[in-house]
Amino acid sequence: RNVKMYFPITGGVLKKRVGEVKAVDDVSFSIKKGETFGLVGESGCGKSTTGRVIMRLYEPTEGAIIFDGKNISNIKGERLRQMRQNFQMVFQDPFSSLNPRMNIGSIIGEPLAVNTKISQADLKDRVDHLLEVVGLPRDAAFKYPHEFSGGQRQRIAIARALSLNPKLMVLDEAVSALDVSIQAQIINLLDELREEFGLSYLFISHNLSVVKHVSHQVGVMYLGRMVEVAPRSSLYHTPLHPYSESLLSAAPEASRKVKRNRIILSGDVPNPANPPSGCAFHTRCPKAMEQCKQERPELREIRSQHFVACHLY
Ligand code: SF4
Ligand code: MG
Repeated sequence: RNVKMYFPITGGVLKKRVGEVKAVDDVSFSIKKGETFGLVGESGCGKSTTGRVIMRLYEPTEGAIIFDGKNISNIKGERLRQMRQNFQMVFQDPFSSLNPRMNIGSIIGEPLAVNTKISQADLKDRVDHLLEVVGLPRDAAFKYPHEFSGGQRQRIAIARALSLNPKLMVLDEAVSALDVSIQAQIINLLDELREEFGLSYLFISHNLSVVKHVSHQVGVMYLGRMVEVAPRSSLYHTPLHPYSESLLSAAPEASRKVKRNRIILSGDVPNPANPPSGCAFHTRCPKAMEQCKQERPELREIRSQHFVACHLY
């Protein structure tokens, strides 16, 4: 609720604070149990920081992160360590997150070995089970990361993430580095796991076609702000925010039923340390009006469950 995550910018030899980057600026949304919330936007819009602050890898500058009815924004120490077991993250490049010197059994079992008092025998059973759950053979436990393909390595990363029975997984560009056919396999696996274990996902991606496949709700971020939140079908059929419209117009349509004119945005995402006044999108928005330069639009519910931050509505 109203989460802000500001990072100081320091300058000079004295490292004095000269400004701040508003990586996440007053963002509110909910992820329902057992559902996937897709978070889209160009790189540098604050998606990854949003995922990290929800997992309490950072303490938010302001606002409340509420998990299972409890405000976890400011918890620390042992309570935070315990709480974090509910959350796991899977990244884009499984190779860099898997220790090349550890065999797969040790990689998958490590969170359990570190955080619980599990016996060696139970640990082995658990690893066998997790390998099966993600569709890898048992003898994978004795091999090393370099012996696997990109898709298999992502299965290993998912097995490791599942080891402590998390409730929420933050999937940060988790399929973005994979070939399209492998992407589909991993997405299907994630969907099966979500149903089987009642998991919730924050699915972060710049790829709108992928997000469309997996999400129940979709949020669109621009320069640290949430500019539109809606159920998947509303967002893809009737996007309201000009930024969402432009992103969708650039995404390849599988069905071709919806014809969209391509909207080309001028320029890059502005520097988040010095965002434009008013609506931060006004420097690139094809529908910008005078008002947009001065007044910042708030996120408001325009249709049932469909929220947008834009002066057009
Ligand atoms: Fe464009 Fe104005 Fe809406 Fe911002 S508020 S998206 S500049 S029309
Ligand atoms: Mg990112």
